[in-house]
Amino acid sequence: MTVCKKVVLRFDSKIVEKPIIYSLIKDYGLITNILKAEINPHKEGYLVMEVTGENQQYAEGVEYLNSIGVSIDALDEKVTWIEEKCMQCGLCTGLCPTHALKMNRPSMNVTFEGEKCIVCEICVKSCPAKAVELHF
Ligand code: SF4
Ligand code: SF4
Repeated sequence: MTVCKKVVLRFDSKIVEKPIIYSLIKDYGLITNILKAEINPHKEGYLVMEVTGENQQYAEGVEYLNSIGVSIDALDEKVTWIEEKCMQCGLCTGLCPTHALKMNRPSMNVTFEGEKCIVCEICVKSCPAKAVELHF
């Protein structure tokens, strides 16, 4: 079975120069898509990435990372809507693909249903009041 996970890798300065991404691709057949990275040759670093591959390959890749001292954690992303900040402009409700943010009629009040949210981040980027936040 194929898995696709968003994960965060954390590693110390000794690991920074190791070709860990290359190894995941070449030795474990995993597809990686780096979403965020902060790597400083003299300090700790982290990578946020999407990893896709067969279950077994994924498990072996995780084992490899642990064996060289890289911690790997599943990334939990969550969007929260801050009602007090919301200006009820309705912009996000026209953009939200799942109607997690919606304009209710006839009251015209904006509401948020977290269980419908797929964390596409469209609202986070477009809200003029910064009333929607992304949390890890
Ligand atoms: S875009 Fe922001 S301010 Fe406007 S309705 Fe949505 S959450 Fe509220
Ligand atoms: S992150 Fe995407 S799905 Fe979730 S509320 Fe915002 S626009 Fe809708």
